[in-house]
Formats: sequence, C-alpha cells, structure tokens
Amino acid sequence: MNILVINCGSSSLKFQLIDSETEKCIAKGLCERIGIEGSQITYAPANGEKEEKLISMPDHTEAIRLVLEALTNEKTGVVKSLSEIDAVGHRIVHGGEKFAVSTLINDEVMKAIEECNDLAPLHNPANLIGIRACQALMENTPMAAVFDTAFHQTMPAKAYMYGLPYEYYEKYKIRRYGFHGTSHSYVSKRAAQFLGEDYNHMKIIVCHLGNGASVSAVKNGECIDTSMGLTPLEGLIMGTRSGDMDPAIIEFLAHKENKNIDEIMNILNKKSGVYGLSGNISSDFRDLEKAAADGNEKAKLTLDAFDYRVAKYIGAYVAAMNGVDAICFTAGLGENGSTTRERICNYLGYLGIELDSEANAKRGEDIVISTKDSKTKVLVIPTNEELAIARETSLLINAK
Ligand code: AMP
Repeated sequence: MNILVINCGSSSLKFQLIDSETEKCIAKGLCERIGIEGSQITYAPANGEKEEKLISMPDHTEAIRLVLEALTNEKTGVVKSLSEIDAVGHRIVHGGEKFAVSTLINDEVMKAIEECNDLAPLHNPANLIGIRACQALMENTPMAAVFDTAFHQTMPAKAYMYGLPYEYYEKYKIRRYGFHGTSHSYVSKRAAQFLGEDYNHMKIIVCHLGNGASVSAVKNGECIDTSMGLTPLEGLIMGTRSGDMDPAIIEFLAHKENKNIDEIMNILNKKSGVYGLSGNISSDFRDLEKAAADGNEKAKLTLDAFDYRVAKYIGAYVAAMNGVDAICFTAGLGENGSTTRERICNYLGYLGIELDSEANAKRGEDIVISTKDSKTKVLVIPTNEELAIARETSLLINAK
C-alpha cells in the first residue's frame, strides 16, 4: 500500500510517500512559504534527483495540488496516477482528551479536531486545512489522523493535573497533554525491539532533543509522564522556547517591559530557549557548541543549563518509574549531538551508566552507546515520525 504522509503547518507542508509493505520512502519533499511571497516546493524521489522550484502557492490546496502533480509527473513522478496512492496519513498536533489513538477521518472526527483548535491555535487549524485540501483533490482516498498527543493519554491524573482550581480543568480542559507522542512511541518500541526485550515489561526514558524537545517516561508500554504540558512550551529549555519557569515572570516582565500577554508569549515561544539564553547566538546547537569551544561564556552557560535540565527530568522519571532499564536519545540533537549525550550521561553515574565513546561517536543507526557493563542501557534511536504515521494509517485501513 502507498501511503502519503502529510505534516501541515501554518505556512509549510512536509510530505512523504511510503510503501507500507517495504516501509521504504518512495519520495519526499516540502512546500515552504505557503500563502507568502517566494513560495517554494522541494521534491526528492528516492531514486532520482532532488528538485527545488519557486512557484506561487496562494493556499494549502494549491500546495497539495503541486505535491500530487510532482508525485504523478510523467518524467520525475513515482506513481502513474493518484489511484496508486492508497491512503493519506495526517499528522495532527492536538487531539485533546478525545483521541487516545489514531483514527480514520470522517465528518465527526473533523469536528472533534476542530473542537481542539483552542488548545493548539497555531497548529490544528493548519492540520485541518491540509485534510480539507486532500479531500478536495483525492475525494475517495481514505485518510487517517495521527495525533501528537495520543501516546501520552495513558498518563495518570496525578501526572497531568496542574495545581490550579479544578474548575479550569472542567471548563477548559486545562491539563498536561504532552507532544511528540508519535516519536516517543516509535522510539520506545524500537528500543525494546532492538534490545530484544519485552516492551510491556520495561521502563524506558525517551529524550526527544530537537528544536522542540521533550522527555517521556514509558513504563510497561505506556507513557506515564512527559515534559511538555497544555502546550509545547513546558519542560526542557528548547531552541527558542523557555521551557519550565516561574509563571510570575510573565506579569513581572509585562510590567517592566510594558508589553501585553501576546508580546510576552511571543518572547517565551520564539525569543527564549537556548537562543535567548545565549544572548541570541543561535537556536542551533552546532553554533552553540562552536561558540562554546571558542570560549564564549554565554554559550557555555546555555549548554550547561540545557544538559542540566535534561538530566533533572531523567532523574524525575527514574523516580516516577522506580527505576529505568533504557534511556534513548532521538531527534536532531539527540541523534547527532554526541557531546550533548556525553555531558547528560555524566550526571547519571548513580544509574551505573558508562558510555562507550566509540559507539557514541557513530551516527545514523539504531545503536547502544553504553558499555556492556553499564547497568542502564543508553541508546540512540533515529526517530521516524513519518514511518510511524504510515504504519498507523496502514493498520487502520487494513482493519476497515
Ligand atoms: P530537529 O528539530 O529534530 O530537526 O532538530 C534540529 C536541531 O538538531 C538543530 O537545532 C540542531 O541544534 C540539532 N542538530 C542537528 N545536527 C546536529 C549536529 N550534528 N550536532 C549537534 N546538533 C545538531
């Protein structure tokens, strides 16, 4: 079965066509600056040349039309016609409490996703636009919704409730939801499989360290806690997001800087994190590592603060699970940042962790980076959210 995976943002759209039998990516690409001047489509068939084309994309329907045109193009396409695309899997950011699992899309599901718009005002409306654009162009193709929040729905109430008046949970569903669920699920399952152990009898901590970053505690195959909250702002210090902080800072800053709530939230989401803390050096850890190596004190402090926060979350989740069998690193920094992994593991001697420096220097493969004698296993598992979405979609279609 050929499954088109769509990850639709407010002005961008990532896509991958995946053969669900071989689990190979047939083609992938990206539409950027949708609805903005200078829009561009990048298309890369697995067995051909990557193409980049500047082309007007006034809306997402046009972007999807161009994606489908690229996939079916006579010369560079990978399928002869749209009938060879058997299903579409959509990444949906927020499923609220309604969606604990992926689901086939129908009118009722669309309505329920729309009801979660309040919880993810930047993401869910864009995800819905992506679904509608596909429906308009591929009328009879079945589609599935795979939610970033679903994997975390197994968290117990003691982990997801905030210390706020209960009525806000009842009225507005204010609670912790967690994100990157597709990645945490994929990586934790893969780690158990790679180690040849039973997923349902393991305690696993997944550190998804990318531009957005989160940690999760997965006990006996279920997520029991994760670092992101109502929104992706909570938890680790991220590329540009602050992560955990005293909420009173919002009022303090608003008064001192004479800014309104929207302006403060923009600072917390876009101008903070390692970018802000480093004095605007960069949100990219490669730049920060370089600046730190060149002796920049703010860059050093930023990396220290980032690593320390990750190590603290790991400690908290060891306590939450009363132990840990495996710690996994994934996403851009988790997969590539060998020095970050080493510095974080330096905090974890109490878990009997010893890193194998040769294995830690490798890249691009599932690998155990702890020594044979290490009491807790440490792994790098490259995440593959698109494949996870394709798998979920294929399961739903086959179960129809
Ligand atoms: P992601 O959001 O998963 O695409 O991850 C993006 C982040 O990964 C970037 O902001 C970089 O800081 C980080 N990253 C990517 N490659 C490397 C690398 N070779 N070394 C350190 N960090 C990296």
